[in-house]
Amino acid sequence: MTPAEIPNLIDGEARPAASGAWLDTRRPADGTALCRLARSATADVDAAVAAARTAQRTWAERTVVARGDLLRELALALRDRREEASAIVAEETGKPLDLARGETDAAVEMGLFVAGEGRRYHGRTTTASMPHRTVFTLRRPVGVAGLIISFNTPLPNVAWKVFPALLCGNGAVLKPSEEAPASAFFFAELAHEVGLPPGVLNVVQGTGPEAGAALVEHPDVDLVSFTGSAATGRWINERAGARLAKVCLELGGKNALVVCDDADLENAVRWVVASAFSNAGQRCASASRLVVFDAVADEVRGRLLEEARAVDPQPVISEAALERILGEVQRAVSRGATVLCGGERLDRPGYHLAPTIVEGVALDDDLSRVELFGPVATLTSVAGLDEALAVVNDSPYGLTAAIHTASVHRALRFAEQAEAGVVVVNAGTHGSEPHMGFGGVKQSGTGWKEAGVEALDVYSDTRYVNIVADPSLT
Ligand code: NAD
Repeated sequence: MTPAEIPNLIDGEARPAASGAWLDTRRPADGTALCRLARSATADVDAAVAAARTAQRTWAERTVVARGDLLRELALALRDRREEASAIVAEETGKPLDLARGETDAAVEMGLFVAGEGRRYHGRTTTASMPHRTVFTLRRPVGVAGLIISFNTPLPNVAWKVFPALLCGNGAVLKPSEEAPASAFFFAELAHEVGLPPGVLNVVQGTGPEAGAALVEHPDVDLVSFTGSAATGRWINERAGARLAKVCLELGGKNALVVCDDADLENAVRWVVASAFSNAGQRCASASRLVVFDAVADEVRGRLLEEARAVDPQPVISEAALERILGEVQRAVSRGATVLCGGERLDRPGYHLAPTIVEGVALDDDLSRVELFGPVATLTSVAGLDEALAVVNDSPYGLTAAIHTASVHRALRFAEQAEAGVVVVNAGTHGSEPHMGFGGVKQSGTGWKEAGVEALDVYSDTRYVNIVADPSLT
């Protein structure tokens, strides 16, 4: 069960905010009070960064294999405590326990994958124009990493950043979302239980503008790695960029899923519903733009409405999120769009919104362009693949895109021409597995990939070493 109080974890110690202030959270499933979290500010961030700086030096002296071994123990401990961890995730996000268990498993898998990278951690050797010179690369830690994450899949969000950051020998200060503080605290306590030295991983709870901004602006934070909205990412890029810190941004999406006239429609509609409505649409990879060929539009619409109405809805994270999402739908309707299903709050406790499909939305309308992070998708019909690609690419975002087709030609053309970091054929718009790099183009990110071996490039710097072993030969 979620503890009543979620403090900070600084230098291995659970501490309230220096100011003594707290924030309250609620259960999205029924709106009742859940817990209070430390409302941290600059003083708490200063203490956490100082602890990370000190601990990092000794942590980085361990071999990367030894660091990986400890991270494997952490992943296995999380697997042992699966039920407890999943219950906290389910309670603080409102998602069903089964889905939370799947997310705990995903966090464990990420830990096991990253731990194994401790035994690879490859560099390069290369040639040199000068004789008798040997050249190779070494990966070095970046230093102190500020890790700021969203609420939507709280444990995988922690795992995607903390495991590679620590493997690479950094000290870390994690700022979880104020809307899902408990899972991150659970993870960090577990890390200390399995023997992570105090100060290597610190957690500072609180709001973005207070705790988050203090971390971004701290002069001793060498790397800011952020997962969240494009608006916050833009601000972070400006502020951390101004002091030339390394900045990795994993941002939002307005992901398109295309259904061609040669698709297996049963399979396509099943994936549309899962992609648009699972986790109440609170997935960066969620399909929020459905693009269907004219020839099958009526049939897809009919099947889709039937399946969307049968979805058991999950709550969105807060009352404010629910009102924002419904407001955007209502504004689109006032501009001429038609709600085919949903578009309203459900008559039950908590923050439940009916799965919503909206048709007749102009391509330049906010509903086509702004990420809602809720269970809402627009439906647009197109004449063929050229028009579908034009619609898919007419977006400020470029995270994921999917196409359903039986044609290899259409699939490959889509893979080449859809502007997205991940392309899927005949399945849903989804994130990646631990060994696959994930990240978007345009306003979905700044080119870094997380997960996969690509994450090692975020959390380490590559040093070229030149050795002339016998100077008498040169
Ligand atoms: P958000 O940007 O509101 O908040 C994300 C985090 O940033 C939170 O911890 C918040 O406290 C913090 N924050 C807010 N303002 C800040 C500031 N000024 N300085 C520092 N930190 C600040 O986003 P959210 O509502 O939590 O999450 C939803 C967004 O996250 C969506 O856009 C979604 O697509 C994106 N997301 C992206 C990925 C990905 O891998 N690309 C994964 C999950 C979520």
